[in-house]
Amino acid sequence: MTRVRVSEIPSSPSDTHFRIVASALDAAPRAVLPPDLAMCPACALEVSTPGARRYRYPFTNCTDCGPRATIVTSLPYDRARTSMKSFVMCVACRAEYEDPTDRRFHAEPIACPDCGPTLEMRSRDVTARGERALEEAISCLRRGEVLAMQGLGGFQLLVDATREDAVRELRRRKGREAKPFAVLFSSCDDVRRHCSLSSREERELTSPTAPIALLTRRVDGLAPSVAPRQPRIGAMLPTTPLHKLLVEGVGRPLVCTSGNLSEEPMCVDIAAASARLADVADAFLHHDREIVRPVDDSVVRVDPGGMTVLRRARGLSPGALSLAEATPTVLALGAQQKSTVALAIHGEVIVSAHVGDLHSVDGARLHEVTARDMLQFFDAKPDVIACDLHPDYASTRLAERLAAELDVPLVRVQHHHAHVMACAAEHGLTGRVLGLAWDGAGLGDDGALWGGEALVCEGDTYRRVAHLRPFALPGGEAAMGEPRRAALGLLHAVFGVEVIDHAAGMFSSSESRTLVTMLERRVSTPVTTSVGRLFDAVAALVGVAPAGRIRFEGEAAMALEDAAFAGEVAPYSMPLSDGAPAVADWGPLVRALLADVRSGAPAGLVAARFHATLAALAEAVASRSGVRSVVLAGGCFQNALLTRLVKGRLTASGHRVYTARDLSPNDGALSVGQALVASRSSARGGGAHVPGDPR
Ligand SMILES: [Zn+2]
Ligand SMILES: [Zn+2]
Repeated sequence: MTRVRVSEIPSSPSDTHFRIVASALDAAPRAVLPPDLAMCPACALEVSTPGARRYRYPFTNCTDCGPRATIVTSLPYDRARTSMKSFVMCVACRAEYEDPTDRRFHAEPIACPDCGPTLEMRSRDVTARGERALEEAISCLRRGEVLAMQGLGGFQLLVDATREDAVRELRRRKGREAKPFAVLFSSCDDVRRHCSLSSREERELTSPTAPIALLTRRVDGLAPSVAPRQPRIGAMLPTTPLHKLLVEGVGRPLVCTSGNLSEEPMCVDIAAASARLADVADAFLHHDREIVRPVDDSVVRVDPGGMTVLRRARGLSPGALSLAEATPTVLALGAQQKSTVALAIHGEVIVSAHVGDLHSVDGARLHEVTARDMLQFFDAKPDVIACDLHPDYASTRLAERLAAELDVPLVRVQHHHAHVMACAAEHGLTGRVLGLAWDGAGLGDDGALWGGEALVCEGDTYRRVAHLRPFALPGGEAAMGEPRRAALGLLHAVFGVEVIDHAAGMFSSSESRTLVTMLERRVSTPVTTSVGRLFDAVAALVGVAPAGRIRFEGEAAMALEDAAFAGEVAPYSMPLSDGAPAVADWGPLVRALLADVRSGAPAGLVAARFHATLAALAEAVASRSGVRSVVLAGGCFQNALLTRLVKGRLTASGHRVYTARDLSPNDGALSVGQALVASRSSARGGGAHVPGDPR
């Protein structure tokens, strides 16, 4: 995310030879917290070479690879301020460390079997150290048992990905019903046996970032429970020598997932792991190099249009995004899910690693630790604190506490405004933009659940120029996870009490009577303009959504995307009203879509027509707004098909389209947008931003 500017300069006649001149010290050095880097080819080779000093040593690293952010306690970055400080270098390591020609010259985490960290393995029957610990861990995986392993940035749970019984047992113990697991492969050839792998995808997998990449799966030998009924697999290569030794030792792909119970943060030390994962893991493989800052794996997807980061973490974070403008120091605390913390300082925004869900006590605690760590590490005193409008988010409550503690103003930023500004910031857009912010839900400035918004943004203000026609969600929170309830809300708006005839098959008759009564009386039926909920509703009407509750976020929308036919189809009609804001009426869509379903049209056709409808809507809204620069933001744009179609129509109609690249389209980017809005608001002298303040 850091920008490098390249320019040619003419040589002067007096420069007859090449010289190295000392750096000018007039500029204050910027504090940088370097991200962790995946094992490099030279270290991988050394670990595999019998007789080499670091043969089979799991903590091998060099100046090109190894831990950074996960071991640094403070700056400047040298060994004394890392969790390697307790390991005294042996003579051989010291010599390499001090030799400018050695590839380990000043490799701060340098280590070898004689002086570095040691593995330990514990199970009910065995305690082992060093090479024996590794061998025991490999046997445990070969037997189909669950191994909790202390990785680079936290504990991970590993199991043989080819054994259905083992994977299913891991799901049961972890309380993770259906959300796909990532799979660790030993090499690109191994990946190719199970997934299709383009050269661009291969480049990402083998880069120093080495994220999990979502790849299209082929007929494969993986256990069905790894990613039930999913057309994609989250694939990764070994990022540390420990991962490499394990996956090669087992000789089969391994499920590799965060060491936590569902939706909680990862465990980072053996004490927490043995307590919390006691009923999940059969054995624990850990070591004595302390993890200072937890970090999960990053997740990316490569599309024909480029790469999208879906989760910014190991290898990418903390990352700094240089801004096109000067900023005060702002600490922004993100939202409630996929949370991150951002710090705007010296014209840059530094984004923390993915913190995740803040619903659990541990999640909220990790979020606070991350925020305080950012302030302390970068020695920052915020001028402003920023958070979401939603009063009940854990991030909002922390923002309120910190603002009081530090006695600084608090700026509350509307969710979708922050989405748009995050994407604008990453593209260096400083002028007026139209943002299409389509996601699950965020609190609007009118108290409703927004999520299908068109906002014209400029400076620190926005004007809501269009949105979806609102619809009711019977049961509120419960409807968030039940696509059929969203469908019932739509149907009720179109057919009134007659809805019961149309909802047959989705609910039992007593269930639908209760829910329709709620809708009729408007009890516990919040209204929303969310495109994410419209996706849920349509997935239920088409019959591709799970019958009851979804088992992981986005499940129904993903099923609709995956079902859609490729190729041109006619959109349904979704007329846009006059007036400001304009309202996009999905009424005609619902009627036409039901007619298609009843006449036996294939789900793939209906799904494709629905996607085309949203693309046509995007074009209509953009043309109406008269703004040529259009930003696509929000979780719905994790849908590659939707993004491609919307981008295509907007580009064809003369718009410049910007999508998330390094920052994700989902709530992970919100902290950056909040930081930018708060910074501009404070520059304007507006400590307390008036939400929705239109110009
Ligand atoms: Zn290396
Ligand atoms: Zn050594």
